[in-house]
Amino acid sequence: MSGIPAAVLVALRLHNTLSRRIEPLEPIRTGQVSMYTCGPTIWNYAHIGNFRTFLFEDLLRRWLEASGLSVFHIMNLTDVDDRIIREASTRGTDIRSFTEPFARAFFEDRDWLRIRPAHVYPRATDFIESMIALVQGLMDRGFTYQGEDGSVYFAIDRFPAYGRLSQLDRRELKAGASGRISADEYDKENAQDFVLWKAARPEDEAVGAAWDAPFGRGRPGWHLECSAMGLSLLEREGLGPVLDIHAGGVDLIFPHHEDEIAQSCAYTGEPHFARIWVHGEFLNVRGSKMSKRFGNITTPRDLREDGVDPGALRLLLFQTHYRQKLDLTDDGLAAAREGCRRLGEFDARLRRSGLRPAGGESEFAAWGRSLEQKAGEALDDDLNAPEAVAATFQALRDGNRLLDQGSLPAEADLAAWERAIGVLDIMPVGTGAAAILSAWPGQGVAAGELPESPPAIPAEAEAWAMAWAAARSAAKGRKDYKEADRIRALLAGAGWELRDTRDGRAEVRRSTG
Ligand SMILES: [Zn+2]
Repeated sequence: MSGIPAAVLVALRLHNTLSRRIEPLEPIRTGQVSMYTCGPTIWNYAHIGNFRTFLFEDLLRRWLEASGLSVFHIMNLTDVDDRIIREASTRGTDIRSFTEPFARAFFEDRDWLRIRPAHVYPRATDFIESMIALVQGLMDRGFTYQGEDGSVYFAIDRFPAYGRLSQLDRRELKAGASGRISADEYDKENAQDFVLWKAARPEDEAVGAAWDAPFGRGRPGWHLECSAMGLSLLEREGLGPVLDIHAGGVDLIFPHHEDEIAQSCAYTGEPHFARIWVHGEFLNVRGSKMSKRFGNITTPRDLREDGVDPGALRLLLFQTHYRQKLDLTDDGLAAAREGCRRLGEFDARLRRSGLRPAGGESEFAAWGRSLEQKAGEALDDDLNAPEAVAATFQALRDGNRLLDQGSLPAEADLAAWERAIGVLDIMPVGTGAAAILSAWPGQGVAAGELPESPPAIPAEAEAWAMAWAAARSAAKGRKDYKEADRIRALLAGAGWELRDTRDGRAEVRRSTG
């Protein structure tokens, strides 16, 4: 008898916005987690407040994978909404040309901040068919009505669970539900029937933001996009109609996620669109809520130009729990830069020190175990990154003391250090591990359909490498070792190094040098 696979025993507990309680993560499928994180609206450079959310999601993803789970991660790019149409129209261009540079910039910023790429980045305008099918399904089930202009609205009083996620009072709802709203963004005071499909106006046509549908030419509402892309990708991967985790910033709880739940559950008939909803708090810049509306934009590229190390920025953000507001201040940033520098210095000292022979006793063995245990317990406890960071700095102090005393680490101790810092990834540039991409076993593409050479666009090249790594795992599963070797060589030829993890998954990383 083999033991219970480690992946069955998930120790992670997360704060679920649905229940306002910390709950154990119980994956729907043993060893696998489906995760949807709302991505950027590519109408501008994403600001550091957006990236605080993406970084907490990155930590969640890394910790799930470090815990032995296969994660299927979807992040959408919103490339059609009120603001994009307005901006494209002002510049006399179409929405595709207008948004493309911001999509590229987003991937650059993501890579600079060492955020693990999602397995798919669906763009709203590539999923119009799924959106039309979702609207049609909701119409057939009686959850909608059409306005005079042909726009399709979701009738929230026909969905009794409406307001559950945002804890919207039923009385507030009654008072507000007398009308309907067609704007993409609105607040709780304006809880009303929301738009699923907006009838095409001449200004939409002018920028390429109108599509034919059985219920009239138009374009999707913002909230509809995530439901349609999430459900359609889950189906493609054979993962059923419910996500394990849905994440985003707290500003998305209402109306965006409330509306996603209404559309998705009314369509599927399931009680949930996601089992667990996790939300990250705001980042304040010197005391005021960080948002483009307030005019105090700070983007990762501003910080990069300022010479800030991405490791320092990760450290700064992880020093505050994701559910607490964080003030970004110059002092805080300076302290994080110093902390990051010290980590790099210690890491170099540890590697220079030489290894003690296997079997030799040393206090370093307890040091490595203690770090991994403390950091692991902290992250299992609703992703308590500040505690994990504290454990890392404790290890730095203890490790320096041990080295001062002439103790030497064994290879296993170094490995424990690398695993712990690999999850937070708060080391300075040049010392941290290279970006690792984890393959998803399904990956949605049969090996026969995969091109043999990588696409030129970096994000697509990553998806290509992850898909081949998944195809190789499948070949190994079939005991087709010849094909598995061929794929390894194919990846190596395109500059990707492949590694099997102890739990049977595959990882790829760009070869260095
Ligand atoms: Zn969304």
